[in-house]
Amino acid sequence: MTARMGCLAGPAVYRLRQQGTFRTRPLGPRQTPFGPSEMVFEVHDEVSPFYLICPHGTEGYQRSDSFVNHRANLYAFKDLGIETVLGFTAAGAVSHNYDIGDLVLLSDVIDQTTRRANTFFEGQGVGVLRQFPVFCPDMQKLMAENLAEMRCRHHEGGTLVVTEGPRLETAAEVRFFAAAGGQLVSHALAPDVFLAKELELCFGGIVYVANFAETGSSYRPYSAENLFGGAPVSDQSRLERAVDLLGELIRRVSRLLPRENADCPCSLPMRDRAQRFDLPADWRLRFGSRPHPPMMGGWCPTCEVNIPRPSVKA
Ligand SMILES: [Zn+2]
Repeated sequence: MTARMGCLAGPAVYRLRQQGTFRTRPLGPRQTPFGPSEMVFEVHDEVSPFYLICPHGTEGYQRSDSFVNHRANLYAFKDLGIETVLGFTAAGAVSHNYDIGDLVLLSDVIDQTTRRANTFFEGQGVGVLRQFPVFCPDMQKLMAENLAEMRCRHHEGGTLVVTEGPRLETAAEVRFFAAAGGQLVSHALAPDVFLAKELELCFGGIVYVANFAETGSSYRPYSAENLFGGAPVSDQSRLERAVDLLGELIRRVSRLLPRENADCPCSLPMRDRAQRFDLPADWRLRFGSRPHPPMMGGWCPTCEVNIPRPSVKA
């Protein structure tokens, strides 16, 4: 059976793998013109398997989002033939409307990242793509319907501020984000959601609230019991429940793809750019002239040879 969906998942997915909710088979990293992707897993499912990439590493939080090869991960999904990506991550609540463990279907992004490669078309004019809606409306609707069926607490619509990291945000920054309309903050899902558009992929986004972003006020003060603060041990059961629900949601959505009568606008902006810039119909050829990834080594599809990995001097 062919996988129809790729899932980009934060470290919480380790829990789903450990407890057997997701039975995974490692397929290895995938070589791309942008360097190797992170390990790709196939998640077994009797109805519909899907692919899984954990951008932070296979076992724990091995690298922060600043050091993730976002382009390689998205390219790998496209190369595997999937058309839809579901991204989920933990987030800090900026808005007071959320509680620990709440699930929030995202509706928009404020991108505060500063040093991530955010286009496949470096040095070209191709990547000027419309970003409304940011997330695939069909995917967000599909997830909302399923969350309602599951009768779990969730919010439809939330603006995620994505910061560069790896440090966490200052109190003044969090207050600034709140004043600008940000409701949640995280290091993940950007530029992934933008890169997906350049590959004509649908991208659904959902977060679970893992902590309260620090503002320095007495409201929900910092708690040293949690890595990111703000989530006391008493809330751990809510977090575990949220991750379990996400696991069930991902399974449900994977089984419902592709959607009948899907009429989302996700591929339209790139289709227009491809026409305007006379890009090849075969999407892989759009990156054919790209030089070798400078620091990565590995298989180079341009030269069709293995580039030695650079030696590391002590
Ligand atoms: Zn779509």
